[in-house]
Amino acid sequence: METEEKSLNFIEQIVEKDLQEGKNDGRIQTRFPPEPNGYLHIGHVKAICMDFGIADRYNGVCNLRFDDTNPAKEDTEYVDSIQQDIQWLGFQWGNVYYASDYFEKLYDLAIRFIKEGKAYVDEQTAEQIAEQKGTPTEPGVASPFRDRPVEENLRLFQAMQNGEIEDGKMVLRAKIDMANPNMHFRDPIMYRIITSHPHHRTGRRWNVYPMYDFAHGQSDYFEGVTHSICTLEFVVHRPLYDYFIDQFAEGEYRPHQYEFNRLNITYTVMSKRKMLQLVKEGLVAGWDDPRMPTVCGLRRRGYTPEAIRAFINTIGYTKVEGMIDYTWLENAIREDQKEKAPRVCAIFDPVKLVLTNYEGEGENLVAENIDGHPELGTRDMLFAKELYIERGDFLEEADKNFFRLSPGGREVRLKNAYIIQATGCDKDAEGNVTTVYATYDPDSKSGTEGGNRKTKATINWVECNTCIDVEARLYDRLFACENPSAEEGDFRELLNPDSLKVVTIKAEAALAKEMHRPQVINGIAQVNHYQFLKQGYFVVDPDTTDNKLIVNRTASLKDNWQK
Ligand code: ATP
Ligand code: MG
Repeated sequence: METEEKSLNFIEQIVEKDLQEGKNDGRIQTRFPPEPNGYLHIGHVKAICMDFGIADRYNGVCNLRFDDTNPAKEDTEYVDSIQQDIQWLGFQWGNVYYASDYFEKLYDLAIRFIKEGKAYVDEQTAEQIAEQKGTPTEPGVASPFRDRPVEENLRLFQAMQNGEIEDGKMVLRAKIDMANPNMHFRDPIMYRIITSHPHHRTGRRWNVYPMYDFAHGQSDYFEGVTHSICTLEFVVHRPLYDYFIDQFAEGEYRPHQYEFNRLNITYTVMSKRKMLQLVKEGLVAGWDDPRMPTVCGLRRRGYTPEAIRAFINTIGYTKVEGMIDYTWLENAIREDQKEKAPRVCAIFDPVKLVLTNYEGEGENLVAENIDGHPELGTRDMLFAKELYIERGDFLEEADKNFFRLSPGGREVRLKNAYIIQATGCDKDAEGNVTTVYATYDPDSKSGTEGGNRKTKATINWVECNTCIDVEARLYDRLFACENPSAEEGDFRELLNPDSLKVVTIKAEAALAKEMHRPQVINGIAQVNHYQFLKQGYFVVDPDTTDNKLIVNRTASLKDNWQK
């Protein structure tokens, strides 16, 4: 999927044109600018694949820049996880930068703006300022503080920084144009006061913090970014991005902003704020809950970097917003695992099968990890007199459309083993089958000449005494409705109540080798992926211990979601 040559996306076309025209002396520099206020989600991966992808493809560099301008929400826990996730996805940045590296420079720039009459301190409340903004067709109203003398603005801005003014009591605004049809030009806020929280890197050094619009373009400029790529909601910010840079930039060089469509996926939310709420309120088990659309959640669910990147490659980049069906994501992991995941047998709803004519201790059969691919290895499966099969694979009274086990002479193959015929069963007082009886044909072993005999059905089995109990966590979509963000009311009430079922299953002995706490490398548990025959793709969960193997269902084999 990934090596497939695709036509250039529209940003790659822009980059190629810039290179042809010799812009920036052929230098390509991008950045990925997460705010460290949460874990990365699959939407961020779309941006990561773009930002790092452009740099890789055109011999450029992509830097990681933490957009850490709001100490009230940011934390080093997020800084660490973001770095881990990017590397796990298979990307490597040139440098790590922080917007907070530029606080000094940005503050000096703000002072310069004040001195040049381009900024003023406003003492109105946030509500008053919002009321005066006007509408796209009606001009806004000037603040009564708009024409303050420069000296007073300087004194008040310094007082804001000195901690002499309470949070929310004053802001620094750019003095641009209260009638501009672009609302972002109507004296946007440049600085606000935040004294309630220390900054994760600068501690208590600052009491004023720059707003996104005053920090982002400048940071791009300071670093030498050539292509500053973000999502479509920033189109309307672009003129302001250019305006601020034009006020102080020297020479020819300018960073340029380009925008593509955000990723939205059905049956989930793509907002860190909402995800944080789910985590904090215990509605999911954490940021890495396998139902979460976070990178760590997808990883724990069993998604591989290759599958995630293939998914992003499939959906592509456009300039129109849209919604991607969740099944695309599942199809990407199915496609990825199809020829990678070793197959094993696991019985989800077991009933005992006794082979009445089987004598002896049992024998080791050899099964290929992936049928038809002996080069991918084999495993031993102990075959003996007492097995477990799926309850649904036996019917005491079956019609002619049922091809699996039922008394009356029909032949069924036990996967990788022998052909059997059911002879009868035991039942409990309620009529539930407790034991199925069958005879096996010793001349029908798979892999021998007799093994070529065809049956209409093949069923799975595990050996009773050597199989292990495994906790299987069966995950489904986190939300019950397609677009929870578009619904009115509380999004938490739209959660899918059946998004997690925990069952104990019986797995073949080969899985016993997974019963140990997984090794952790660079903070990431090293776990293996499997296909449980007829059941789906599974991955070992890091909660596994020496006594208990826990697996997560990554995806069923086919899409069986019912609306
Ligand atoms: P959220 O709304 O979830 O908090 P954000 O946009 O505030 O997301 P940032 O940390 O600021 O999160 O995002 C870093 C980069 O990732 C930005 O360039 C942003 O445009 C991009 N990004 C965030 N969400 C998506 C998405 N759903 N699809 C594509 N790119 C995204
Ligand atoms: Mg943001």
